[in-house]
Amino acid sequence: MCMPSTIEKFCRMLRSARHCVAFTGAGVSTLSGIPDFRGDTGIFTNPPDALFPALSPSISAETLFDLEQFEKDPTFFYNTAGPLVYPVHEKAPSIVHTTLAALEEQGLVKSVITQNIDRLHQKAGSRRVIELHGSPAFHYCLRCAGIRVSYDEAAACLAAGAYPRCPQCGRILKPAITFYGEPLPLEARRAAEDQAQSADLMLVLGTSLLVRPAADIPRTTLHCGGKLVIVNRMPTPLDDDAALRFENLEEFCEGIS
Ligand SMILES: [Zn+2]
Repeated sequence: MCMPSTIEKFCRMLRSARHCVAFTGAGVSTLSGIPDFRGDTGIFTNPPDALFPALSPSISAETLFDLEQFEKDPTFFYNTAGPLVYPVHEKAPSIVHTTLAALEEQGLVKSVITQNIDRLHQKAGSRRVIELHGSPAFHYCLRCAGIRVSYDEAAACLAAGAYPRCPQCGRILKPAITFYGEPLPLEARRAAEDQAQSADLMLVLGTSLLVRPAADIPRTTLHCGGKLVIVNRMPTPLDDDAALRFENLEEFCEGIS
């Protein structure tokens, strides 16, 4: 259990913060039933066979989201990661997603920077969401400029047993998720840097801060004199620099709502 006095301390910090920004990772979405690609209980170390029959421990996130591999054979991505990225039964936002949306509504959180690609923050009602690793919100052609196909259109293609294809050249489209071998989307990275510099309080939720360059975002806040509050099951490299540290995301959100 979080100590009530510590939660109260956090609530005071939040109310007196000038610019609080949230930074979220996979732990926020595992509460919605989305497996963590890199965690201890992730799909690749412990695949839930019934849900993701094409996944096996031998397939790493690096292989699945590898740009070179996608260029060689895009069907591998859609066949393997398809049920994960385009689930037939869409996942519902967790208590963390809804809490952050409520805090934004109250003016207490200014933006959410996320490493997740599941669009659950937007689904929960967050309006200012910076997707550091891109998202499947649209799909584009690696050859033809200006092609944009929505998530819904791509998901409908896949549900019908086809692949989303370029209307101009017929090539299989790539989702705008950042793959290994690609830089982070420039606009998102700039927006995240800007938010991290402005933040006098950053709420770090459900991330072990091991994936760079994304993990540099909270460091920026620290360097600019802002405070960090970290909520994560596993230790993070910035625990010693955090003003407050909690382990359980659900208890934390229940405590502040
Ligand atoms: Zn094309």
